[in-house]
Amino acid sequence: MSRPVWAEISRSKLLHNFRLLRSLAGPAELLPVVKGNGYGHGTAACSRALAADGARWLAVTSVEEGVTARAACPEIDILALSGVWQGDADAALAHHLTPVAWEPAQLDEAARPGKQMPIHLEIDTGMSRQGVQPEALSALLDQLRATPWLRLDGVLTHFHSPEILDSPATGEQFARFATAVDMIFARGLRPRWLHAGNSTSVLFPGPAALVKLAGKHGAKAMLRPGLSLYGYAPRFTGGDGPDFAGKLQPVLAWKSRVASLRTIEAGESAGYCATFRAIRRTRLALLPVGYADGLSRLLSGRGTVLLRGRRAPIAGRVSMDLTIVDVTDIPGVEIGDEAVLIGSQGPETITAYDHADLIGTIPYEILCNISARVPRVEVD
Ligand SMILES: *Cc1c(COP(=O)(O)O)cnc(C)c1O
Repeated sequence: MSRPVWAEISRSKLLHNFRLLRSLAGPAELLPVVKGNGYGHGTAACSRALAADGARWLAVTSVEEGVTARAACPEIDILALSGVWQGDADAALAHHLTPVAWEPAQLDEAARPGKQMPIHLEIDTGMSRQGVQPEALSALLDQLRATPWLRLDGVLTHFHSPEILDSPATGEQFARFATAVDMIFARGLRPRWLHAGNSTSVLFPGPAALVKLAGKHGAKAMLRPGLSLYGYAPRFTGGDGPDFAGKLQPVLAWKSRVASLRTIEAGESAGYCATFRAIRRTRLALLPVGYADGLSRLLSGRGTVLLRGRRAPIAGRVSMDLTIVDVTDIPGVEIGDEAVLIGSQGPETITAYDHADLIGTIPYEILCNISARVPRVEVD
């Protein structure tokens, strides 16, 4: 690695989180979500570690991501969440992937005469994003029953507000899901799996309602944690949710090294458009990381990085490939010193939530935006 910017992915922390979530899921299975390049952590490395630790399923976005996960995990079941696109079916069959489907045209695309394709049917219970709407379910089930090449292996839905504790929405969505599931079994279809809920649902309220619904039909319940696997707890609103902040462990640490140092005098500026102007004699360190690596330009003049266990403020604009930090108050900084963008150093920690809060987004986007040119390095 010549240009020193990299992300360390801790296998032991990923497995710590997975085991904690598995214990909370009780009798329900987990469907760990490794879409979006494993939330920026690397699909292949995360898939391999989770499968080796006993995951039975993984969820990716596309057939293309599924092919990556399959290469890492020959045995496991892999769900492609985002439907069946034209041309996907052959690759899905070749790599034994299970696509989610809900449109009549997707069922047509997935059906390959002579081949058995498992699918999971998504029910739209109020997210209005993917899934068959309840009023269209009956016709879709007729189509499914008339297509012997498709095997209905699972039924799912997705909740839009599980972290809003005082909202009745999740309960209402669950009731619509249960009605759809009852209809599916009444028509003689026998999916093995019923799944719903993201990280939030594993932590609160847990799997009980889903386990009960699955048990009624002789199916198995599954929950789909994503963000929590990578060590970030959801934030509950509208009531006191469980506090998992200290129990989950962030898996990714994003690092760089000091490339250059200089001192500027009071009144001199740093970076594009001179948005940083020194009010005293100022020591600046240069880091070879910028927005092309996924360090948001919105952190210009607002974010900090860790150097020698202390916080160094970002001075002026984040450039495409470079960022300047103010190390005036951190004595002894040298070229080659390790800088932490996300992670811990000495007593200090910066999380993806810190970045997200500064720029008005969510940790998901911070982690996913760490770009492909940042090598992911597996540690412990
Ligand atoms: C991304 C996703 C999840 C995981 O959500 P988290 O909030 O990251 O736990 C679960 N289910 C579906 C359908 C998703 O798209």
